[in-house]
Amino acid sequence: VGTARPEQKPRILLMGLRRSGKSSILKVVFQKMSPNETLFLESTNKIVKEDISNSSFVQFQIWDFPGQINFFDPSLDLDNMFGGCGVLVFVIDAQDDLTEALNKLHITVTKAHKINPNIKCEVFIHKVDGLTEDNKMDVQRDINQRSNDDLQDAGIDSIHLSFYLTSIYDHSIFEAFSKVVQKLIPQLPALENLLNILISNSAIEKAFLFDVVSKIYIATDSSPVDMQSYQLCCDMIDVVIDVSGIYGVQDDCDSTAFDSQSFSLIKLNNSTVLYLREVSTCLALVCILREDNFEKQGVIDYNFLCFRKAIQQVFELRNKSLASGSPTDDA
Ligand code: GDP
Repeated sequence: VGTARPEQKPRILLMGLRRSGKSSILKVVFQKMSPNETLFLESTNKIVKEDISNSSFVQFQIWDFPGQINFFDPSLDLDNMFGGCGVLVFVIDAQDDLTEALNKLHITVTKAHKINPNIKCEVFIHKVDGLTEDNKMDVQRDINQRSNDDLQDAGIDSIHLSFYLTSIYDHSIFEAFSKVVQKLIPQLPALENLLNILISNSAIEKAFLFDVVSKIYIATDSSPVDMQSYQLCCDMIDVVIDVSGIYGVQDDCDSTAFDSQSFSLIKLNNSTVLYLREVSTCLALVCILREDNFEKQGVIDYNFLCFRKAIQQVFELRNKSLASGSPTDDA
């Protein structure tokens, strides 16, 4: 991303064999398609450039490649393809034979790395909903070992591969995409720092900064993320957006009715409170608190306003440095 020119959006490349699930991932994460509907998707047979920027906070492109793409085809502009790209996501169907996918992975990452040594390589071990817990671990170990052995045999040990177990039938695909997108956000350390300050001063258990449209979290505090908390916060966003959509006053251009007044509080019967506030047109803060710690809501509201101001400043700095063409720093 550091090399991306201001007018260029950071790019994510999504690659993998035919039928590995690339189009389904895009549709489910960014276009709200329900997982069952993906059964009827037509297979990808051309390069699809999907621009996510209009609807969501994260500005990047996904290039969905047909699985049978041939790197030796001279009409392909590989320099352009891998050159300005921040992250390469390679999707492997965990329910299928792995050999062909691993060969393709090897060819793809070595090619990409040769052209762009800064490219980050992420591997989605996908469709794991069909596997048992033990099986998942075995497949991950197998893929990890074989792909790294291949790289070592080829004498390239400078490529670091990250692995994620994913499925469109649960939140794992959102979680994996969150981690990938975070690698494209230069302000991440500043955002995490602000979230840490917020939770420690407000007795909050866990806080996420969400992209409302995709339900990807672009940052969280440094305590570990457990799937259940993340899922709970995703569900809350769904509830808020749905209720706002039905009862909210909508501007002409704003189809979600999510605005600076958006605020929601849900008390669960296990002494937990969920707290959601709008941070910017696409971002929301969602926090999990213990009910006992929520007695002084005024303090939390006040801390939130300071937090929102700081977040806005972080992004303004970024926009200013982009506009002036100076290199971006971490603010
Ligand atoms: P593409 O050619 O890589 O774009 O693959 P598609 O997105 O067309 O997906 C191929 C098939 O895999 C479709 O029938 C999807 O329903 C199915 N699929 C995609 N993701 C998952 C998943 O996480 N779990 C399961 N069980 N099937 C999936």
